[in-house]
Amino acid sequence: MASVLVCGGGNAAQVVSCLFASRYKVTAISLYADEAERWDKAVKEAKGMTCNFQGTNKAVNSMPDLITKDPSAVKNCDVVLFTVPSSFHEQYFRALEPFVQKGTIFAVMPARSGCDFLFKKVMGEKADTLGLAAFETLPWACRFNDWGKTATVLGTKESISAAVVPPLTKSKLDVILKLQGLLGVEPKIVECPNVMSISLGNPGQVIHPGVTYGKWHSWDGKPLPQKPLFYHGVDTQTADVLEGISGDITAICKALKTLDPNFDCSEVKTIMEWYMASYSTSIADGSTLQKAMSTNSAYEGLCHPMKESGGGYVPDFQFRYLSEDVPTGLCFSRGVAELLNVKTPTIDKVLTWAQGKLSKEFLKDGKMNGKDIKDTRAPQAFGVTSKDMLCSFLRIKKEA
Ligand code: NAD
Repeated sequence: MASVLVCGGGNAAQVVSCLFASRYKVTAISLYADEAERWDKAVKEAKGMTCNFQGTNKAVNSMPDLITKDPSAVKNCDVVLFTVPSSFHEQYFRALEPFVQKGTIFAVMPARSGCDFLFKKVMGEKADTLGLAAFETLPWACRFNDWGKTATVLGTKESISAAVVPPLTKSKLDVILKLQGLLGVEPKIVECPNVMSISLGNPGQVIHPGVTYGKWHSWDGKPLPQKPLFYHGVDTQTADVLEGISGDITAICKALKTLDPNFDCSEVKTIMEWYMASYSTSIADGSTLQKAMSTNSAYEGLCHPMKESGGGYVPDFQFRYLSEDVPTGLCFSRGVAELLNVKTPTIDKVLTWAQGKLSKEFLKDGKMNGKDIKDTRAPQAFGVTSKDMLCSFLRIKKEA
C-alpha cells in the first residue's frame, strides 16, 4: 500500500489528506507555525474530517494516520504530495532533503513555474535518485467550511496535465501509474512532454497578476463600498492584458522551437485555449476571452482579495495572486525570455507594476537582476544566466 506524505495545511492539503486517508497510509506535515498541532486537535475533536462533494450526496470521513511538523516522517513515505502554495515549496524541499529515501516521488500540485530548477538546486546529486511530477494545477477546487473539520470539494477535474522526471531506476510510466493509482479514476493524468511546458503553461501567472493589474493599475486609492468580482468583473481591457501575457509566452515557445525544432511545446496553451479546455461546460459564452471569463459559472461570486479599510474595502496586494504568482510564475517566464532574447512587453508592464505593490525588485533596468531575484523561480536565481546554460539545463541541442 502506498504511504503518502501530504505537505501543507491549507484547503488543498486538508482535503487531499482526508480523501487519501480513506484508502492509504497518510502522514500530513505542516511546517507553518503551530498549524500541525491545531489541525491534529481539530480533526480529532471532529472524529475525522468530512469532505462533501458539492452537488452530490457523496461524502468522505477520514483522518491522516499522523499530523506532524517533523520532516523525518518522509523516511517512511514513497510519495510526497506538495499541496502548499508554491511560495513555500523551497521550505518543504529543504526540510525533507536530509531524510528522503531513494526512489521517493515528489508530486507537486500545482508546480507553478520552474519547479525543476528548484528541485535540482535543493536535492543536488540526490535529484537523480528521486522522481518529480510537476502538475499544471490541483485536481480539485476545494474550500474548508470549518477549519480542520469539514470541507467542500467544489469540483474534480476530468483530466490533469503532469510532466514527469522519473528516478533513474524507473520509467515515466511507472511514476504515472503509481500516481494515477493514488488519484483513482478522476482526474486522468495526461502526460506533458517536459517540465518547461508546465512552467510556461502555468495559467496562474497569466490570470492572477493579469486580472489584478487590469483592475487596480489606475485605482485612485479610495476604499470601495463592496468587494469587486475577480473573474466576472473582467472587462475588455483586462482581457487584453491577459492575452498580451499569453502572447509573450507564445513568443517564448517559438524561440525554444527555433533553438531546437524537436523541443515539444505543443502542450503550452494560450489562455483562451486553457479556459475552453478547462471550463467548456461551465462557460455560457465562449466567443471572446472576456465573455468566457465573465460567464464561467464555476467562478461565480469569487471576489478580488480585499482588506477592510476606511469604512470600505481596499485591495490586498500581499495575497498569493501577486505574492505567489509573480515570483513563481511571471518571473520565471520573463527570465527565460531574457535568455532567449524574446521581447515581452505585456509581462514587463505587469511585472514592473506588481513588484512595486510587493515592495520587491525583480526586474531592474530591463534585466532580471534586481536585488530580490533570489526569491524567484527565474532561471537567473539558480545561476542560469545565458542561453547556453539554459540549453544545457533543458538538454536542448542548439540549431540556431
Ligand atoms: P491556502 O491558501 O489554503 O494555503 C494556506 C497554507 O499555506 C497554510 O495553511 C499553510 O500551510 C501554508 N502557509 C501560509 N503561510 C505560510 C507561511 N508564511 N509559511 C509557511 N507556510 C505557510 O491554499 P490552498 O487553497 O490549499 O491551495 C494550495 C495551492 O493550490 C495554491 O498554490 C493554490 O493556488 C492552488 N490551487 C488551489 C485550488 C483550490 O481550490 N484550493 C485550486 C487550484 C489551485
